[in-house]
Amino acid sequence: MGVYTTTNPATGEAVKTFPEISDAELQELITRSHAAYRSWRTTSLDERRAVLIRAAEIHRERAEELAALLTLEMGKPAAQARSEVALVASIYQYYADNVEKFMADEPLEISGPGTAVVRTEPIGPLVGVMPWNYPYYQVARFAAPNIALGNTIILKHARNCPQSALAIEQVLTEAGLPDGVYLNAFVSSSQVADAIADPRVQGVSLTGSEKAGAAVAEVAGRNLTKCVLELGGSDPFIVLDDADLDEAAAAAATGRLGNAGQACTASKRFLVQAGVYDEFVRRFVGQAACWTPGDPTSADTKIGPLSSESAVEELEELVEEAVAQGAEVLLDGGRTDEPGAFYRPTLLGGVTPEMRLYSEELFGPAGVVYRFETVEEAIELANDSPYGLSSSVFTGDDEKAQHIAESLETGMVWINSTSKSAPDLPFGGVKRSGFGRELARFGFNEFANKKLVRNP
Ligand code: NDP
Repeated sequence: MGVYTTTNPATGEAVKTFPEISDAELQELITRSHAAYRSWRTTSLDERRAVLIRAAEIHRERAEELAALLTLEMGKPAAQARSEVALVASIYQYYADNVEKFMADEPLEISGPGTAVVRTEPIGPLVGVMPWNYPYYQVARFAAPNIALGNTIILKHARNCPQSALAIEQVLTEAGLPDGVYLNAFVSSSQVADAIADPRVQGVSLTGSEKAGAAVAEVAGRNLTKCVLELGGSDPFIVLDDADLDEAAAAAATGRLGNAGQACTASKRFLVQAGVYDEFVRRFVGQAACWTPGDPTSADTKIGPLSSESAVEELEELVEEAVAQGAEVLLDGGRTDEPGAFYRPTLLGGVTPEMRLYSEELFGPAGVVYRFETVEEAIELANDSPYGLSSSVFTGDDEKAQHIAESLETGMVWINSTSKSAPDLPFGGVKRSGFGRELARFGFNEFANKKLVRNP
């Protein structure tokens, strides 16, 4: 049987290990989840709201302690870890504030006699498969709306953040969630498949790589189980020659380097109009060079280690391969000499479609800058990606911004800003970035039975 292990990526030290559960234990969890669903779905809205409010409060009260676990397990710098905890608190609070509205019957205007309403009801136990890059946030945007709605959850977290995974279950229990409504499961991929195939399980949501998404979607498809996927991204960041370059360069650095570049909606491809290319690159390189990797527990550190040594190796390979094929090094970063999974910001230009990093996701602090002449060229380049998650456009001309926003094949577009997440904004992509939406009312409705009640 495999294990889940906390390894401090700043030192490489394995801190704590947890065994996977047995198949029989997984069956028990599904039974508990199913039993809990039967009563949780009929629990009053007030009671469900009280749990969500308390969960938000606990996140605020215990912010330091919860944030420290993120720093330990995946190297998130302390300040960014606290921001993640605060965002999570706001997600629980948001669904507490809105659950009544989201569950209200929707009367339909119909042509025939009588009435027709659409009622919003839960569907049953769900499986969540979540990644390590935002251990609390990724879970919260799936768990909070579904707990509010009346579904129950079995959560398989990434195997490098077991203590964060346990902390989530503990917080929700302490918030008053009845037994079985949220269950953490240290399981293998094949056990995830078994859980999805179980007829009691009604849905699965995965955030992670395309490979994991395809594996889960295949099992879900075979079993006719509803599935939501939030996969990778290679978000374009377009700078037109009328943009505020200081603002754009600062946003580019934050958008590429926050969370050490390990975000699906990080800006990854920087498309810059020829007239401002040199000046933008100069300012972007200047900004990025200030993000010196350091001790993630220190309050001043903006960029910590990557999540693991293998993450550094993968990034290094993509960058070195492109450089060997002729890519231009605009900012020479790379691995540092210290122990730990540290990687200095790196920027490349002159990247061509033959290079792997032209189309693959750069999941770390390395970015690619392209030059374009016309807006149409920028749109074509931006859309020439298998991914379609989010995007950014920097320009002083709102008409151009709206035209580009309309033309981009992405699930989200941000004008004069990098992509951000908030409880009231839907989040999700198109193409190989996945399907379905999380957060806001859209996320609430993904695993809801929109039941028609017609009374002619
Ligand atoms: P994975 O996609 O492998 O991991 C994400 C989650 O999926 C983990 O819980 C993992 O479990 C689980 N998982 C993996 N394979 C399966 C499977 N066959 N069946 C069921 N569950 C599965 O991401 P990695 O950590 O390996 O990162 C690799 C790449 O994925 C990154 O470089 C990045 O491109 C992308 N990624 C995207 C994220 C996003 O936010 N969209 C987040 C993380 C990664 P386990 O830990 O046990 O393998």
